[in-house]
Amino acid sequence: MAQIIDGKAVSAAVKQEVADEAAKLKEEKGLKVGLAVVIVGNNPASRVYVNNKKKACEAVGFQSFEYALEESTTQEQLLDLVNVLNRDDRVNGILVQLPLPKHIDEKAIINAISPEKDVDAFHPINVGRIMIGDYSFLPCTPAGVMRLIESTGTDITGKQCVVIGRSNIVGKPQAMLLLQKNGTVTICHSKTKNLKEVCLGADILVVAIGKANFVTGDMIKEGAVVIDVGMNRLDNGKLCGDVEFESAEKKASFITPVPGGVGPMTIAMLMKNTLTAAKQQAGIE
Ligand code: NAP
Repeated sequence: MAQIIDGKAVSAAVKQEVADEAAKLKEEKGLKVGLAVVIVGNNPASRVYVNNKKKACEAVGFQSFEYALEESTTQEQLLDLVNVLNRDDRVNGILVQLPLPKHIDEKAIINAISPEKDVDAFHPINVGRIMIGDYSFLPCTPAGVMRLIESTGTDITGKQCVVIGRSNIVGKPQAMLLLQKNGTVTICHSKTKNLKEVCLGADILVVAIGKANFVTGDMIKEGAVVIDVGMNRLDNGKLCGDVEFESAEKKASFITPVPGGVGPMTIAMLMKNTLTAAKQQAGIE
């Protein structure tokens, strides 16, 4: 039976590290770390994420600046705001909550954020830096996954790592981070043939598909470390991962639950990136 990886506990430890360092920065350098969060429209899920980010800022001692804009906000107006925030010294990190309303080009907005303040690490410059292993920020979810794997004491070097999903925000950067830790990495997607056989070869399996209970126990190698990034809302309102937990936990050595696994890590890593941004902008790191 697998050991459950407690994402809440690991994320609390990351947030505590960040809070301690933020307090030290304030005391020794008079620096108050600031994160600006921009939300456009009334997407209820986005609203929840933004509130959670605000709460996390408070918990680690950051200032948070929230900009809640009307659904009808134009792309130009949003770009103007991003440019103001790029120049605002109180703001060390800028996060524009995605998805944006359809009339706004997300790429144009991401590209407008100063790479030094791009704490989501979505700007092409930061994506490129991750490719060459010379980065300041890592995208929050894959960085959180790495921290969870690390918490199990698993050495990634030489391990067969399988990532299911090739999105720009999870799958691709995840594969890159595992590669940087010397994993032998396979990326799977919707066109992959023999997915079950590929998964059965995985010592470390990271699943980021967006399909409830897609990966079942018979696809998991005995003793594998299984990380479930999926967050799917079932008809009964319950949150559920991409991995069928009951059958998977019988095969895995370690497994993340949903909720309480990867989810809490994403915000913790966002706080860590914002701290890093503040230090770099102050010439400390
Ligand atoms: P996405 O952009 O929709 O990408 C899904 C990926 O899964 C695609 O690469 C797709 O392949 C692949 N896929 C779909 N069906 C498949 C199948 N039958 N077999 C193999 N691969 C398949 O999703 P995402 O943004 O990466 O998110 C994935 C999941 O993670 C979602 O549930 C999301 O809610 C969750 N998530 C959680 C967090 C968190 O903080 N915990 C953060 C981000 C995302 P193709 O490329 O071929 O279409």
